[in-house]
Amino acid sequence: MSLFIENISKSFGAVQALKDISFTLKKGEVVGLLGPNGAGKSTLMKILTGFYREWDGKGTFFDKDLKKERLEIQKEIGYLTENNPLYPEMYVKEYLLYVSGLYRLQNPPVEELLKQTGLLEYQNKKIEILSKGYKQRVGLAAALIHNPKFIILDEPTTGLDPNQLVEIRKLIRELGKDKTVLLSTHILQEIDALCDRVLIINKGRIVLDENLEILRKDQNQIIEVSFDFRIETEALNRIVGVSKVKNTHDFDYEIHVTGKQDLRPAIFDFAHDNGLKILKLQLKNESLEQLFTSLTA
Ligand code: ADP
Ligand code: MG
Repeated sequence: MSLFIENISKSFGAVQALKDISFTLKKGEVVGLLGPNGAGKSTLMKILTGFYREWDGKGTFFDKDLKKERLEIQKEIGYLTENNPLYPEMYVKEYLLYVSGLYRLQNPPVEELLKQTGLLEYQNKKIEILSKGYKQRVGLAAALIHNPKFIILDEPTTGLDPNQLVEIRKLIRELGKDKTVLLSTHILQEIDALCDRVLIINKGRIVLDENLEILRKDQNQIIEVSFDFRIETEALNRIVGVSKVKNTHDFDYEIHVTGKQDLRPAIFDFAHDNGLKILKLQLKNESLEQLFTSLTA
């Protein structure tokens, strides 16, 4: 049950938004479409949902032709658009029932979805009073109402606060267990946290299609850490595994680590032993960052 995308191109007047895009998606894969603003992510997604009809190339989903059997294919696609438009004056459950009606579903799995997306307590609340993270859950629930096989999420985590982000990521990973998920983002960490595979798109072209596991292999890490006090970079340098330390700002440090080991626990111990408090601690993949920058520069 794979999805095949072959040589897709699309222009808007003189602007060529997509150039010769080809890739395959497999069942149960969570694939990230990563690219800067204007790269063509949303355009590609609108083609894959069947929304755009004028484009060159070929799409074959579930053994059906995207151009010839569009309506059949759309029954299997769930789509969360970039800004998640909702009806703010509707109530959560009411809205999901309304969307079920649009799909003419006989027995919509509304209760199940409310549960799955953590909205049970909010089912009788007006959408307008929900936080951005909860609105996003409503959008996701609506995109899943017809139990699609292929889920397309356009920048699903943009604008969420860190807690909401963790929750939505968890939900998306759950979905990825038995569905194919394609999500777009312009944030690299998002891909690292969520995806099995990344497609990097730049100026309408796919410039990289690779498994994250391969990209993560033997890759050096960078830990960004902020303390409540200044310390000598030399002291951090003495932690085993650290190759280089940069003092990037007042109390902010960039610690380069050789190999794959996670040095965060050692840094916690270091802070404790030196009477420091950690205000921020983030693990980054050095090579992924460099790769993204070089491919999209
Ligand atoms: P992304 O989602 O990666 O930010 P888009 O797919 O929205 O990028 O846009 C890709 C390019 O196509 C941009 O140059 C954009 O201006 C252009 N574009 C997208 N949609 C339209 C449209 N409906 N009409 C004209 N130009 C468009
Ligand atoms: Mg977009």
